[in-house]
Amino acid sequence: MALPREYPGQSCAIARALEIVGERWTLLILRDAVFGVRRFSDFSRHLGVPRAVLAERLEFLVAEGVLERVAGSRGRDEYVVTDKGLGLWPVLRALGAWGDAHYSPAGPRRVFEHAGCGGDVASGGRCARCGAQVPVAATVLVPGPGYEGPAEGDAISAALAAPHRLLEQLG
Ligand SMILES: [Zn+2]
Repeated sequence: MALPREYPGQSCAIARALEIVGERWTLLILRDAVFGVRRFSDFSRHLGVPRAVLAERLEFLVAEGVLERVAGSRGRDEYVVTDKGLGLWPVLRALGAWGDAHYSPAGPRRVFEHAGCGGDVASGGRCARCGAQVPVAATVLVPGPGYEGPAEGDAISAALAAPHRLLEQLG
């Protein structure tokens, strides 16, 4: 189902991209999908997003080819990030770096490391230790100095209390 265009008359590429990812929750759903969240119930519990909103966002992202719906275990649908969706990962990293710079007085809640190397991966994706441009799948999410512990009763949050390689299934 196509949503009405939000910025009619805007031919700017940023306006076009915002029509896909500019709605409330969408970028957080995408972030969780890159972290490895795949099931509806896990997105719902981890994000606290109303189920009707989540269903609509997932449907739209699938229709736009940002996520793909696949058959998961026990017949449940799962959602995985497509290559098109992964193209938004640098955008999410840049937004996160900006948020950390201005709104994380205790330091970042999460940091990123190069798998097998341990170097810090900067928001542009380059490893500070070996200099490689690190693929998403070789990036490990690690609790940072501002991490305050997992949310109670949330398996995804509990799993993210330990280092976790991006895109590997969580939950
Ligand atoms: Zn490295």
